[in-house]
Amino acid sequence: MQEKSIIFDNSSYVCLSKVPLNPISRLAPTPSGFLHLGNAVNFLVTWAIVRSRKGRLHLRIDDMDGIRFRPDVLEDIFTSLHWLGLDWDTGPAGPDDFYQNFSLHKKKEYYRSRLQALNKTGKNTFVCRCSRASIKKISPSGLYPGTCRNAGLAFEPGCNAVRLKVDNDACIQVNNQRIGLASALGDFVLWRKDDQPSYHLASLLEDEEGGINFIVRGQDLLFSTAAQIHLARCFGFSSFPACRFIHHGLVLGENGEKLSKSRGAYALKDLRQSGGSFANVVQAAARILGLKHDTICTAQDLRHALNSLNRQNTFFKPA
Ligand SMILES: [Zn+2]
Repeated sequence: MQEKSIIFDNSSYVCLSKVPLNPISRLAPTPSGFLHLGNAVNFLVTWAIVRSRKGRLHLRIDDMDGIRFRPDVLEDIFTSLHWLGLDWDTGPAGPDDFYQNFSLHKKKEYYRSRLQALNKTGKNTFVCRCSRASIKKISPSGLYPGTCRNAGLAFEPGCNAVRLKVDNDACIQVNNQRIGLASALGDFVLWRKDDQPSYHLASLLEDEEGGINFIVRGQDLLFSTAAQIHLARCFGFSSFPACRFIHHGLVLGENGEKLSKSRGAYALKDLRQSGGSFANVVQAAARILGLKHDTICTAQDLRHALNSLNRQNTFFKPA
């Protein structure tokens, strides 16, 4: 397979001053589609920053989306992380350990109990019976039009969803951006119609519980970060709202489109199996970090380069 040149949206910059002194972070792949170059770059950036600051790294695999879960993809996550030369301090050591001890399914009732506690406060959540199609009919953008907000529906697991009421003036500051939540996401889902916690709910509860204080994400998750900070405040959490965030530019496909997991050409698995090198993936991570990337070929090289930057206490922008 011909190796892809890696194209970026590098409108954002990464700034080390955002990193806490003892970062506690996580790698959070989902086992629903094979990891692609963009995931790899995100993991490399996260890993290198945390390791260069002697922080702690957790591996969290979010398998709550039961419909799309694929055992072969789970396997691929571990193979890919090892191939890239990345390690982690806590979390599953391999697929068997994951099934036995770390599947988020084991925590479904815990998530439900936390949501019930939030419901009891009475003013934050409501039950919604709308389908995606019925929402689209009223609101072509897909933004929830508030149909069930005041309907007072009773929650029936597996039949309807629970949403968070987002006030029109709800604004969240993420780094230097102010995000109006009502127009960005609207009343977002906390508990899904198929009786599963939403990504926002499960991810936030895991991050809060794990004492995560530093998260590296692609720019496409900026609104998700705002939603989760807002939700954390509704819960009255103290840890997550103080978390530091970096949102980096995305790795794009040849035509400038966002990579998706279904596109095999950018899958790490295909690159690996065709005997391709991870060096250009590592160099892409170096570029996102603004490092001079000619001599950076492995995860350890990336870490060493950041170590020397840390010593100089440098702020940096993409090369
Ligand atoms: Zn509704």
